[in-house]
Amino acid sequence: MQFIQLLQDNTTIALVVFGILGLCVGSFLNVVIHRIPLMMVFSWRRECSQFMSEQADMPREHTTPLANIVANDAPITLSKPASRCPHCAHKIKWYENIPLVSWLTLRGRCSNCKAAIGLRYPLVELVTALLSVLVIYQFGVSVSGLSALILVWTLIALTGIDFDTQLLPDRLTFPLAGLGLAVNSQGWFVSPTQSIWGLLLGFLSLWIVVKVFYLITKKHGMGQGDFKLLAVLGAWLGPMMLPLIILLSSLLGSIVGIILMKKQGESRPFAFGPYIAIAGIIALLYGTDIVNWYLGMYTY
Ligand SMILES: [Zn+2]
Repeated sequence: MQFIQLLQDNTTIALVVFGILGLCVGSFLNVVIHRIPLMMVFSWRRECSQFMSEQADMPREHTTPLANIVANDAPITLSKPASRCPHCAHKIKWYENIPLVSWLTLRGRCSNCKAAIGLRYPLVELVTALLSVLVIYQFGVSVSGLSALILVWTLIALTGIDFDTQLLPDRLTFPLAGLGLAVNSQGWFVSPTQSIWGLLLGFLSLWIVVKVFYLITKKHGMGQGDFKLLAVLGAWLGPMMLPLIILLSSLLGSIVGIILMKKQGESRPFAFGPYIAIAGIIALLYGTDIVNWYLGMYTY
């Protein structure tokens, strides 16, 4: 309790402490980004094989190979198996796993086989640290500050997963939506009523855009996950922030999309989730300022 009091009284110490905490959380988020899609594939395989083995009319030789795959695969969780180098399977020791520091001392290479360790690992750690500091600077060491940290950390994980796999896992978005309703039942960001309407309108607004887009072009522009992610942000930040989030994410998405198209010339499946997540973080930190500034332009 004394420690919390110290953090609340001294902003500089609080920012340093949460910066270091952010580095460690970022290191964990790297694991989340890498493993949650693998865990999803594992559970899909298991469900498929269970489903198929329960089909009495299915010839046995159709279901056994799949059942074997599942039986031979060790289940993956966030803590098991221990992290290894993807090139040489060298088990990563604790001192090779210190956020940022290890990447720098190893000069971005595996200590055993010298294969390059992606720049994105220290980058995720650094971004997580930086955003954690901004959140605490904006909200202070308070219940709203700590819950905002959970929102931002999960959004970073969702950004990485969607970027890699074009998936926004329900096992992350659903609990995050529930948590948004829960924290706003206490009115920490918006009123309970606004939170509920934010959830509904967040989902519906993108759903309608996609339906209209489909009627005109006969193409699917976005996935279900994108609606759910906007619903999450609606539950946390209320319906008033939704126009800003949609505007910012479309702007960011179009700019990056055009750059990627010019650079690669190919139509790689485009994940929109990262831009909704980034716009959501901007709206959380500076949304009120931006909206007030915008409305202020018209009052003179
Ligand atoms: Zn290696």
